[in-house]
Amino acid sequence: MAFNFPRRVRKRYDRLKATLESKFYHFKLSIDEYFRIWNSPCRFCEDEFNQKGNCSVELVSGGRTWDVDTCGPVCNFCKQFKNNSQLTEEETKKLIDTLIEVRRNERKDGRRRSGRSWV
Ligand SMILES: [Zn+2]
Repeated sequence: MAFNFPRRVRKRYDRLKATLESKFYHFKLSIDEYFRIWNSPCRFCEDEFNQKGNCSVELVSGGRTWDVDTCGPVCNFCKQFKNNSQLTEEETKKLIDTLIEVRRNERKDGRRRSGRSWV
């Protein structure tokens, strides 16, 4: 008997698979692979900005095949960041890294101590 996935994971997986197949993508992720990616730290911020604790699974490299080599985890914060920009994967990573550094320095300086929580 396979690992019993949380129901919401199964639901998301089924929905994603159905949507992609209706658009003629090649969806080759098994639910185990999907779960592993979903459960991994965000590939941009390593969960620095991940408030939800889980990531979306999305296609990283171009093309129409979804498998372990072409898909990766991304948190909500970084996803919005990336979707609203014309940046490449590498540029997004660099900007997120810079943002993390800036935020860390701000916290060190205590400048945000009384402000709203960060992110
Ligand atoms: Zn992130």
